Amino acid sequence: CGIVGYIGKRNTKKILLDGLKELEYRGYDSAGIAVLQNGEFSNFKAIGKLVNLEEKTKDFITNGFAIGIGHTRWATHGKPTELNAHPHLGESSYVVHNGIIENYAALKKELLACGVKFLSQTDTEVIVHQFEKNLKNSKNAFEAFSKTIKELEGAYAILLTTKSQPDTIFFAKHGSPMLVGINDAGESFFASSDTPLIGQAKEVNYFEDGDFGFVNPSEVAIYDRDSNERKPNFKKLKEDK
Ligand code: GLU
Repeated sequence: CGIVGYIGKRNTKKILLDGLKELEYRGYDSAGIAVLQNGEFSNFKAIGKLVNLEEKTKDFITNGFAIGIGHTRWATHGKPTELNAHPHLGESSYVVHNGIIENYAALKKELLACGVKFLSQTDTEVIVHQFEKNLKNSKNAFEAFSKTIKELEGAYAILLTTKSQPDTIFFAKHGSPMLVGINDAGESFFASSDTPLIGQAKEVNYFEDGDFGFVNPSEVAIYDRDSNERKPNFKKLKEDK
């Protein structure tokens, strides 16, 4: 139900957890984060309130450059369990998703026939496995991500991170809100509403339906539904809540 993302050198864990707290009012049954730091993923999930996730992450330290994604879930497909909480893992990538993938059953059937193992009952998990399947015959992660997005039907705000491009967050938005923010310190923030970005980002770009692309420390690349690249439309974000 809520999504956050961060690319930068500050305390990634804290920024993700603080961001999720700002989205708590929207309601949720479980929550999780995944952080990619020095080439390795750390992942934590908990059912119930965010304090449960905070407890699980209390010995986890983020220090230096990292990328991270976080999620508060309002279950639509699969019970509110820890396994069904996002982020969802493929072989070496994680995804968070708000919304519903309407054609997940057909995609899942094909993936299962290819021998892919599913860990959850969610519609979301097909995204990360479909991405990794596409990665095997794409020239890079962005090509695989673009192919994957075009195969999805339904409503979504998606963030995906992968070891194959460890400084980048891939995003897609259709029917569920999402924005990206940047600041002078070279940090990037994603969220499903602007409240987590207040006091963090200086300028924000609200994605439009059909938008997808990627963000890394030097670039914000946005493509429209026809895959035409378009200039980000950054606007000042008010500084206080
Ligand atoms: N449909 C997804 C699930 O059930 C995402 C739900 C949400 O937006 O939180 O896991």
